[in-house]
Amino acid sequence: MKVFNTLSRQKEEFVPLQEGKVSMYVCGPTVYNLIHIGNARPMIVFDTARRYMEHKGYAVNYVSNFTDVDDKIIKKANEEGVDPSVISERYIAECRKDMKALNVKEATTHPKATEEIDGMIEMIQTLIDKGHAYVAEDGTVYYKTRSFKEYGKLSHKNLDDLRSGGRALLVSGEDQKQDPLDFVLWKPKKEGEPYWESPWCEGRPGWHIECSVMSKKYLGEEIDIHAGGEDLIFPHHENEIAQSEAANGKEFAKYWLHNGFLNIDNKKMSKSAGNFFTVRDISEKYDLQVLRFFMLSAHYRSPLNFSADLMEAAKNGLDRIVTSVSNLNFLMEKAADVPMTGEEQQLFKEAEMYITKFDEAMDDDFNTADAVSAIFELVKFANTNVNERSGKAFIQAVKEEIVMLSDICGLIVEKKAEILDRQIEALIQERQEARKAKNFARADEIRDTLAAQGIILEDTREGVKWKRA
Ligand code: AMP
Ligand code: ZN
Repeated sequence: MKVFNTLSRQKEEFVPLQEGKVSMYVCGPTVYNLIHIGNARPMIVFDTARRYMEHKGYAVNYVSNFTDVDDKIIKKANEEGVDPSVISERYIAECRKDMKALNVKEATTHPKATEEIDGMIEMIQTLIDKGHAYVAEDGTVYYKTRSFKEYGKLSHKNLDDLRSGGRALLVSGEDQKQDPLDFVLWKPKKEGEPYWESPWCEGRPGWHIECSVMSKKYLGEEIDIHAGGEDLIFPHHENEIAQSEAANGKEFAKYWLHNGFLNIDNKKMSKSAGNFFTVRDISEKYDLQVLRFFMLSAHYRSPLNFSADLMEAAKNGLDRIVTSVSNLNFLMEKAADVPMTGEEQQLFKEAEMYITKFDEAMDDDFNTADAVSAIFELVKFANTNVNERSGKAFIQAVKEEIVMLSDICGLIVEKKAEILDRQIEALIQERQEARKAKNFARADEIRDTLAAQGIILEDTREGVKWKRA
């Protein structure tokens, strides 16, 4: 498998630090509002990368943070007259809803900045002790950018070029910097802001330190993949490298992956210009699977243009797969329950070629655009070669391939027949009888059957209660 590494600006063979395991950190959203469709892009594309690596047999430890202390959160909290945690908790909950609807898998860990302050203070102290940071008179702690010789290696910027444009980095209140390139690790509290005790002043962390700390805590000092949108390359990821490598004395991340930007109608997304959509806006018109499919129809590093027409095209594309699977299920119900004939086995070899094609595309820096084309070819194969005369084994095998490849992309293309309430009640009744008859194997089997349908049973004093997960 090859991945494009922003660090080397090349596609490199992916070799994890530990065989069979992948540690991956993806910078998550700042939670002060509903997430927009741009925020959804890294969530979807890196979730797909994760799913593919899991499909290849890697155990992926996936960490993605919520930035829950930030100027915009504080501003909104003050406007509403509530504590900032009310705002951040509200939008974390909303973000999780959107992620679920986009079929983005739950991260192994979803740390929040406000719960990791101790770790941040510890790392900042290490940086001060090692001469990479200093405390200004008002208690602000700055990172001494020039003390890290490799600064600029990710964004391929030269410190002196930065310096000439660097005056712009001097913003009011930050004039205690020794050098315009220095950035904030810790800043003193202001009126009406949340703050924490620290050895330097009551205050709060700068933005960059949280990812260095969470990545180390949940994944270790050296990780395989660090990812996020391309706007994060500079300064966020460059600063993360400076912090982590200076503090730990080890290479922070081996591979740096960045997604391209999502534009709307070929323009930058902008609230004021009116071309701005939240994921929730889109969910009013489309199943969010369509948005996911749309995102995967382009390579993750390319810029992607969002428009009403392209969403319609995505809807039609996804429908083609869903319809094909549903036709196969229909044919399967009536098909003769026989093993594959010689002719079917021969045909199936062709179908398997599309799996190879899919894998080759994904192995080439997660080229989901080509991977989706392979699914389409498989669908075309199914529509052409499966019919009323096909045997059940053949139909099932073809269907399972389509479902499996779609599943790697996180696309749900098979609508599970909804189990009806009365069927559930009947099964619960049967389970009770099985238990009375001490037939525990059957009782457990029924519980598992229901669990597979997302039905959770609860044994209470008043009898068995059930709910849908
Ligand atoms: P933020 O909440 O701004 O820190 O963004 C969270 C994630 O969304 C980061 O990885 C950003 O790079 C990414 N992101 C923000 N806007 C866009 C966009 N228009 N297109 C693609 N990714 C974006
Ligand atoms: Zn980050």
